[in-house]
Amino acid sequence: MTRNMIIILLSYLQIFILIPSSSKSQQRNQQEKEEKSKCPCLQSKIRFDDSSIEKIILHPEEVLANPDVFWASDSAYQLVKLWHQRVSFPIPIEQWKEWMQSFKNLPIEDREKNSQLIAARTILKKGKEFNEKAIPYICSFLPKDCPDISTTIYFTTAIMASGFQSGNSIVIYGANADKDNLLIHELFHQGFDKCKPKRIESSSQDSVISQIYNDLQNEGMATYVGYKGLKEFPRCRTDMLKDDYKLFENHEEVNALLNKMNELFKKALTLREKELKDTLWQVGSTDRAFYVIGCYMSKIIDEKLGRNVLVETISKGPRSFLLAYNSLVDRKLLVFDLFAQK
Ligand SMILES: [Zn+2]
Repeated sequence: MTRNMIIILLSYLQIFILIPSSSKSQQRNQQEKEEKSKCPCLQSKIRFDDSSIEKIILHPEEVLANPDVFWASDSAYQLVKLWHQRVSFPIPIEQWKEWMQSFKNLPIEDREKNSQLIAARTILKKGKEFNEKAIPYICSFLPKDCPDISTTIYFTTAIMASGFQSGNSIVIYGANADKDNLLIHELFHQGFDKCKPKRIESSSQDSVISQIYNDLQNEGMATYVGYKGLKEFPRCRTDMLKDDYKLFENHEEVNALLNKMNELFKKALTLREKELKDTLWQVGSTDRAFYVIGCYMSKIIDEKLGRNVLVETISKGPRSFLLAYNSLVDRKLLVFDLFAQK
């Protein structure tokens, strides 16, 4: 056999060997694709609803004529009412009526030019495009048995919250309607809620502790998902005073907030229910500790243990999120563990 013949024979052999393995990998890819396309999360649909903001801005006199009927019948406002109950924040009804009055004072021909209404209508027109981008992105931060996270996003105005998630719905304040980064944050909450473990605490103290770390993980991961998605979803809330991403990028701010949060955790079990709730709201939400520190914890887990481990902490529960993080950092960066104090 000449050398050339050997080379020819070898390359035939190679082709012979390669064909089945390449078709196998094609098959595998196809299988993976099919499995993925069956994943309930990827089948989710996001629907937008601007009926509430349209009603308020275009027909404020009707809303003002009977506020009780509006609060009781408007889909977005039904959820706003629930939000006020959830965060124990009384509805500032007199202030709300003043806001309605200012919409009423607008000449009818100017109402269509309202920037909040325009923002809501803009994203409504881009609904299909947003679905195609946002659904795979959110699902990539949820466990493998990712559930359907179909959601209706309501746009409204004259509310205290910039946006919140509730059940299968999200309510967004009109001025934030086109803030795609905020929509991503709220959509993640929807997925998180569906994947987190069902309550298994044996005592009410366990349940209080779990809830604290649940809120830290939920807000922290949602902030991390928004931060990692800044390139694709660049429009953020223009809340310059408390910009979570800026705080998160600043080591000193992270350290200061971590210390503040740990101080609160250390005394949490000695506080009365109301005092604990108020202090958690102050430190976790107003001062942004849950958002910034939870985001930092997510980053450390993601970078050191990988996306799968981070994502699995959602279904394993908030304690696994805490323990995964604490196993990776120096003493001075530990998050105080209330579970270990009982
Ligand atoms: Zn949030």
